[in-house]
Amino acid sequence: MHEAAMPRMTGRNFLFVPGPTNIPDRVQRAMMVAMEDHRSSKFPELTARVLAGLRKLFKTESGQIAIFPSSGTGAWEAALTNTLSPGDAVLAARFGQFSHLWIDMAQRLGFDVQVLECEWGEGVPIERVAQVLEKDSANRIKAILACHNETATGVTSDIAGLRRAIDDARHRALLFVDGVSSIGCIDFRMDEWGVDLAVCGSQKGLMLPPGLGIVGASKRAVEAMSSATSRRCYFDLADMMKNNATGYFPYTPPLSLLYGLRESLDMLFEEGLDAVFARHRHLAGGVRAAVTEGWKLPLCAKAPHWYSDTVSAIVVPRGIDASRVIDIAFKRYNLALGAGLSKVAGKVFRIGHLGDLNELMLMGAIAGAEMAMLDAGINVTAGSGVAAASRYWRGQRGFRDRTVDGERQLGEARAAA
Ligand code: PLP
Repeated sequence: MHEAAMPRMTGRNFLFVPGPTNIPDRVQRAMMVAMEDHRSSKFPELTARVLAGLRKLFKTESGQIAIFPSSGTGAWEAALTNTLSPGDAVLAARFGQFSHLWIDMAQRLGFDVQVLECEWGEGVPIERVAQVLEKDSANRIKAILACHNETATGVTSDIAGLRRAIDDARHRALLFVDGVSSIGCIDFRMDEWGVDLAVCGSQKGLMLPPGLGIVGASKRAVEAMSSATSRRCYFDLADMMKNNATGYFPYTPPLSLLYGLRESLDMLFEEGLDAVFARHRHLAGGVRAAVTEGWKLPLCAKAPHWYSDTVSAIVVPRGIDASRVIDIAFKRYNLALGAGLSKVAGKVFRIGHLGDLNELMLMGAIAGAEMAMLDAGINVTAGSGVAAASRYWRGQRGFRDRTVDGERQLGEARAAA
């Protein structure tokens, strides 16, 4: 809308898209640094620290991490082009916009993609993947692409289960996992799940601005790099790893983001990864209560085992355009909700519940979404979402007490050390 037609909004914008997420003040401050020489003898300290932190976050001891100045999409491209050759067969399921975009990229890069079409709102169809792999006794399929958390539909897939299916079929394909909207929010175990290429971006669970594309590569993935003939230059993992080994980058690194990353990793480890995952689950539970018990609306995710702890896609009643809800929320209430993408455009709106959040911030999003829905003509009961979320969170009061108690014990342990 033209600036003159838009009244000035007072107060903070309520940012509830599923990335970029709210940046904690500590991280904002950590990024306010003077520029420095990225070839100085001091710089490798920062490189080593953030790479070690990311290894811990990805839960890998044997894998290597690379950080590219790019968005998550660049990390996808790095993962594919560094380990595959044109014409290689790739298996992937399509069940939302991000799994679709990854397939689209793989096709455009010249791989032979076998697509398993699923309903949007479902997750990785493990049994169908297993059937395909069992038939592929010649190991023609070189890679399996899986989206751990499909941000477009609010669906989390079972990557441990997928790994078991690959192992049961005794298949040698590399496992690629998109962890862009899961890593740092939902448990992710690169080594334990045998993930060969894990990709992530900075603007979601890591609570940073967009601009870092992060790749985790297993030993097998690193071995595959030497025979992969896809063209790569800016995203060459070998160049990145060679430079990183001495603490440097092959080109000018995004300094401010790296300082922010150091701080956000510190924050995640201070809270404790298990507590971070439990907090996301706890907050998601309240949002889901608001949607299903309060508003009595369906989630796009088709079954509870697929419910995402980082984003909920809410299906609006037939005849209502969800983009109107989003537009009203933004213009009248200064609330940014996530849009429905592609196949679900106009049918869903999304609430991101990931990153630096708490119950009361989410109450703002729930209240605002409810007002915008009422304004758009959706027949929800005023206050019902907030009431249901309140009931849910208050019913889990033990959660906060446990966290507070855990923090007290941690403080005491630190003081005693
Ligand atoms: N994969 C998932 C699951 C995402 O949610 C996104 C972005 O939202 C991407 C990939 C693409 O990441 P980016 O927009 O940082 O390139």
